[in-house]
Amino acid sequence: MAEMDTKALRNVSYGLYIVTSGDASRRNGQIANTSFQVTSQPATVAVSINKQNLTHEIIEQCQAFGVSVLEESTPMPFIGLFGFKSGRDLDKFASVQADTGATGCPLVIDHAIAVFEAKVVAKLDAGSHTVFLGELVSCRVLKKAEPLTYAKYHQNKGKEPKTAPTYSPPEAAAAEKQGAAPVKKYVCSVCGWAYDPAKGDPDGGIAPGTPFEQIPASWVCPVCGAGKADFALQ
Ligand code: FE
Repeated sequence: MAEMDTKALRNVSYGLYIVTSGDASRRNGQIANTSFQVTSQPATVAVSINKQNLTHEIIEQCQAFGVSVLEESTPMPFIGLFGFKSGRDLDKFASVQADTGATGCPLVIDHAIAVFEAKVVAKLDAGSHTVFLGELVSCRVLKKAEPLTYAKYHQNKGKEPKTAPTYSPPEAAAAEKQGAAPVKKYVCSVCGWAYDPAKGDPDGGIAPGTPFEQIPASWVCPVCGAGKADFALQ
């Protein structure tokens, strides 16, 4: 029987991108770790997008997509805005600097070191996701900085939403940590980030050593911006 150790897949490297689509009437963008160049002549790129996501619906409609390559210093709440919130509930572009590309697609400029846009030339139904293949229409470099890798994002306490192509359920992840004693933690119900009292949340004004109960009610999740009330003991 063929060996199937899916941990092997965790050794694949990724970056972190905002994939966008839209026109004058509607627009959206989302975090994606799967965006890659496929060929150089013609220059084509691909993205893998969950069928449940609003961005998928808009790419289908507009037949174009944009990709912003995020810089290493991209703050977690910015990633949370595009990664853990739905464009069905809010306009993600309300507080974000964006351009309109030649295809009419919005292109996120904030924290991007490069942006490109492509018109869809083919798509592959991959079950939960669609892989869109796009021919490059425009591309430019915005600044000189290191790109954010998926590994670095995880080091920075980043989590994976359930709609990510590489999502692994917590049960499976926990089962891999053999011998680890279960510790009760307050966990964000929106993004899965766990508050560690020993570390606190210095960026959010919470000193290391602060018990969760003593955090002010106005504090928000550093990853996705959810309120304190969205945390539950697990
Ligand atoms: Fe959160």
